[in-house]
Amino acid sequence: MEHPENSSEYAGLQVNSGVSQQPVINPYLKRNRFRRRELSAAEMVEGILKGDVTILSQAVTLIESVNPDHQSRAQEVINKCLPYSGNSIRVGISGVPGAGKSTSIDEFGIHVLKEKGGKLAVLAIDPSSERTKGSILGDKTRMEKLAQHPSSFIRPSPSAGSLGGVARKTRETIILCEAAGFDKIFVETVGVGQSETACHSMVDFFLLIQVAGTGDELQGIKRGIMEISDGIVINKCDGDNVDRCQMAATNFRNALHFFPMPESGWTPRVLCYSGFYGTGVKEIWDMIYEYVDFVKANGYFDHRRNEQSKYWMYESINEHLRLNFYNNPAIKARLALAEQSVLAGQKTSFVAAQDLLDQYFNGLKE
Ligand code: GDP
Repeated sequence: MEHPENSSEYAGLQVNSGVSQQPVINPYLKRNRFRRRELSAAEMVEGILKGDVTILSQAVTLIESVNPDHQSRAQEVINKCLPYSGNSIRVGISGVPGAGKSTSIDEFGIHVLKEKGGKLAVLAIDPSSERTKGSILGDKTRMEKLAQHPSSFIRPSPSAGSLGGVARKTRETIILCEAAGFDKIFVETVGVGQSETACHSMVDFFLLIQVAGTGDELQGIKRGIMEISDGIVINKCDGDNVDRCQMAATNFRNALHFFPMPESGWTPRVLCYSGFYGTGVKEIWDMIYEYVDFVKANGYFDHRRNEQSKYWMYESINEHLRLNFYNNPAIKARLALAEQSVLAGQKTSFVAAQDLLDQYFNGLKE
């Protein structure tokens, strides 16, 4: 039927015909023409050693990739960077969500860069980020001052895999950052679950951020985490919260008396500060540098790093075995069945596990 608009008597609304739509894809562009050429391992190492942050970021992305080609290139880069790593202070910073980690790291970072110069990398271990589909730690938007500082490098937590896998990637990233000349490394972790133990296993100083709350904060804090802390700092010591913070500090100091002397020979200290107002931050960093001098003098600094290297060798073996087991096609096929027989009460968990392990190891022999 003829549209009424086309009749000469039509006096209604006119619809102007628009311009034709441009294609979404420009047909003149050759595919992949602008895709970045992938750098070889040697080119990456060269860039990292020159301190090129873009190349460093690319190498960290390789570390985080699950693609086997990327993984082998990443391992080559790490191995070549290894001789240039190690020359840094690594500080772990832990605290429950809301304790003020990002506010404090922003302030701490600016403070150490101003006082000591050098370069700072902020990394994170956040195993929950896989669930939340996005990292909650080490995010640039949470550290505004530091993110704009020319000597800082902020990298959120790798998000794929188990805690062991996430932590391994962070540890490997430390090596690359050090090779790129970053002589201060912060490893942020959220103080829940096992992630603080993983963080402790890659740092020289483990700092626990606490907040003074209702007066019973000691009950809420796990014994294990106090034991591994080299310093406990109570944040938000400002406004009308000062008395409460000082009381909490006394409680922590008293509680620490009940722990055996740490292997380092260093007695952990408890300090109050305000990350928001920047008060007490200098004292925290004076303490950390005093600790470093102390443990370098008594040999514990190197001892701890050696122990950590050993630990990471075993962790890598464990992680590799675990992945290899679960990715084995025969195991994959039988896993669901084994699960069912456990749920149906036909096999105990241990027998089902043993059967699968036998199948795996017998398969390897064949
Ligand atoms: P995170 O989850 O541990 O990273 O904690 P944030 O740094 O995001 O801080 C959580 C909240 O505590 C924010 O609203 C901050 O503004 C506040 N906060 C952090 N540090 C201080 C402090 O020193 N004093 C006060 N009063 N508030 C603070």
